[in-house]
Amino acid sequence: MAGHGSIFDDMLQQFDGAARILNLEPGIWQILTHPKRQIMVSCPIQMDNGEIQVFTGYRVQYNITLGPAKGGIRYHPGVTLDEVTTLAAWMTWKCAVAHIPFGGGKGGVICDPSKMSKRELEALTRRYVAEIIDAIGPEKDVPAPDVNTDAQIMAWVMDTYSMHVGHTETAVVTGKPLEIGGSAGRREATGRGVMIATREAAKHVGFPIRGATVAVQGFGNVGSISAELLSREMGASIVAVTDWKGGVYNKNGLDVPKLLEWTAQHKTVAGFDGGEPISSADFFKLKVDVLIPAALENQITMANAAGIQAKVIIEGANGPTDGEAHKYLHEHGVFIVPDILANSSGVTTSYFEWVQDRYGYFWTEKEVNERLESKMCEAFDAVLQTSLKYKVDMRTAAYIVAISRVAVVTRMRGMYA
Ligand code: NAD
Repeated sequence: MAGHGSIFDDMLQQFDGAARILNLEPGIWQILTHPKRQIMVSCPIQMDNGEIQVFTGYRVQYNITLGPAKGGIRYHPGVTLDEVTTLAAWMTWKCAVAHIPFGGGKGGVICDPSKMSKRELEALTRRYVAEIIDAIGPEKDVPAPDVNTDAQIMAWVMDTYSMHVGHTETAVVTGKPLEIGGSAGRREATGRGVMIATREAAKHVGFPIRGATVAVQGFGNVGSISAELLSREMGASIVAVTDWKGGVYNKNGLDVPKLLEWTAQHKTVAGFDGGEPISSADFFKLKVDVLIPAALENQITMANAAGIQAKVIIEGANGPTDGEAHKYLHEHGVFIVPDILANSSGVTTSYFEWVQDRYGYFWTEKEVNERLESKMCEAFDAVLQTSLKYKVDMRTAAYIVAISRVAVVTRMRGMYA
């Protein structure tokens, strides 16, 4: 697509590889590589010092063939239209792999929330929502949290939308607090899905998950919950954890509940006395069964890929392995469960939240977890079978599954013109 830089091109490369294998016809190929709708808005806000500042916001609906657009809102100084568009494309493929009736969307506002007061953030959120109000709604586009946005911000999104339409509309946004239509199990959902993906990968590769050694990069929502559930529910041994400040290693397994307590107090895993310090470089060289990157994008590159000894990599984060490293690791026998499958339980539980809001009837955490287990296993199996059928890696297989599901509906619906 004209005018796009490298991040969209990366997505296109992954897309093209799968589309070629599928022999995708040129017309559908074109449709699926163009964003349906890109909205850009200016949001003037009166700051606490009385001055007016204008913030630029975006909302992109990449593809809405399968249902309403779904995707988070990001607040960050580095937000660009290219990034938001690419993230919206990834959401399209992730929702299709997860087999939920959503298209892909994403939003972003160029701002630095760490320099803004709570009142300024609320004002910005409300004005941004007001500016995109015609484009969003339970049947149109359903936002959620992303980098630097949280349940409180989603509550403001829901309230602003509700004020405009004149009634309470909880299903316009997910990731809300439980009290206003959030779902039980949402906070743990992505980590729970990572745990399920790890268990299924171990089964496929052929090692027992009980006692398997696991290294986790990132100890935030995804990393810490994956580590906690893998250790508590699966009996895996979490031997190393790193975060932005440092890392900790214990060959006999870290005491995860104690590490969680330590992190709650110190805001980092660094300094935890239940293990020895480990550098980021040494972390990636550990001889472990499972490596879970759950921090940021582009953490596994040709700079560290050759040292990796893990049997499987479960991509908790979005885009943690770059294309070159992915190819190298796949060729060297590492089984990689790609992000659009491994961390898809977050959006699956968002889908559950939307369903519950529309029904006005809420499930217990046990019910949410049972449904999540079944959706995640279905998605894992579809991608694994596709990878065996076409003799391709799991990432290409996930794209094949996603593209096939969107393409079949595009053909069925036909061209409106
Ligand atoms: P988070 O902010 O809660 O945690 C991020 C963690 O990464 C923190 O522990 C931080 O210290 C660590 N980190 C940052 N820089 C690091 C570095 N250089 N080295 C090692 N660790 C570093 O974020 P999160 O919600 O856990 O998200 C993590 C990743 O998972 C992101 O890529 C996100 O897009 C993706 N993801 C999250 C969800 C979700 O439901 N939260 C769903 C799908 C995908």
